[in-house]
Amino acid sequence: MGLVQRGAGRGEGAETDAVLGEAAPERLHGKTKCSMLAQAMNGKNAQFAPLEALPPGALVHLDVVQVSEGSSTPLFGLDTAALAARMIEAGEPTWRGRQLAEAIYRQRVADVGSITTLPKALRERLAAEGWQMGRPRIIQVFQSVDGTERYLVQGHDGAAQTVETVWMPEGDEGESGDGSEEAAEGREPEAATGAGKSWSRATICVSSQVGCAVNCQFCLTAKLGLQRNLSAGEIAGQVVAVFDRHSVEVGRDRVNLVFMGMGEPFLNYDNFMASVRLLVQEVGLSPQRMTVSTSGIVPGIERFAQEPPEFRPKLAISLNAPNDEVRAEIMPINRKWPIEAVVEAVRGIRLRPRERITFEYVLLGGVTDRPEHAKEVARLVRRTGLPAKVNLIAWNPGPGIPYAMPQPDAVERFRRTLAGEGVPTYLRRPRGRDIYAACGQLKRTVEGDSRV
Ligand code: SF4
Repeated sequence: MGLVQRGAGRGEGAETDAVLGEAAPERLHGKTKCSMLAQAMNGKNAQFAPLEALPPGALVHLDVVQVSEGSSTPLFGLDTAALAARMIEAGEPTWRGRQLAEAIYRQRVADVGSITTLPKALRERLAAEGWQMGRPRIIQVFQSVDGTERYLVQGHDGAAQTVETVWMPEGDEGESGDGSEEAAEGREPEAATGAGKSWSRATICVSSQVGCAVNCQFCLTAKLGLQRNLSAGEIAGQVVAVFDRHSVEVGRDRVNLVFMGMGEPFLNYDNFMASVRLLVQEVGLSPQRMTVSTSGIVPGIERFAQEPPEFRPKLAISLNAPNDEVRAEIMPINRKWPIEAVVEAVRGIRLRPRERITFEYVLLGGVTDRPEHAKEVARLVRRTGLPAKVNLIAWNPGPGIPYAMPQPDAVERFRRTLAGEGVPTYLRRPRGRDIYAACGQLKRTVEGDSRV
């Protein structure tokens, strides 16, 4: 079992398959679909069936953005080597690739004609030949009273399906106690951080898919179903677009990335990891400033465990329940990969010094927030034998989701019980609830009062 990418490569146009077994694909409407999945598809919205509904051994097919060959291929999303190859094709020396990468990812130049490090004649020729930057663009902004901003971000092809990205100045405490601050000490002088800015640190929540197939019952994004995968450029492009908006200085400002927006990153594994490599190699970010959250896609975790530390973000497991029974109710994916299978896969990761695995735990009023649940979670975490911490998140309400927010005293009691059992426990601050930017609320919604 494992995730594979077929016929795909950055800039090549791609069809990505998450292979969960050996089922044979068939051609459907000119695209490869799994026969079992094709039957289960919702024809009206062409969304995919919930993952847990698939029989064992099913092949999950996910389309990614189709990118054509030739001069119209967007440059954003290509790494230095691929940019150099494009320059060689254009009759230019290899080192022009480095110049391009520098302009695209470090200087954040938004269009080819503005790359002033290239000779004017070359810029004009590339523009005339249809070379495009293709960096994702923020097309709408929703601002919360608490300073959080939620963005609708559009891919290079102007696709109607935007994705959502969230900027949280001062973060939400999600990174507390996971080792990232300690690891960054000595590299990012605190006095210089956020100098001249209204924030001293920030967290960006990044999406990896449009919609999601995992179908967690408490999550608004699940209502969309899976629409499509994002390309590596579309994932990294969210970060660069937000950096641009807030004039983030890489290497000085303390910005953490959490891949916890729309989608399940490990069901878009290749594009997700390609985006991480772009962000590390080309943009200059540390993987220790990044956390990816998974609902527990075991083949994805197993692949993740093989990633080299210089490109591996930290890992968060979206646990959300004290045992398999409750988890299967609120996260049907648990029927495919129960808690112990997930934990066993996580044990395969070679953690860095001081690194901890984060267990995210959404408190649903009356469902997962009882004191006995806290004790059970403590036992579960201890049993894993992993250096771990728990992030508690009071559930954020969303239209049509049949759960209740936990009472503040239940949240505090849960936190104290876990901490009393010796489990490092942090409470994530709700951010941007008024603009549907908080955890589990990301769904493409258009409110009237917005501005870019
Ligand atoms: S919580 Fe995450 S994995 Fe679950 S449905 Fe929502 S976006 Fe998907």
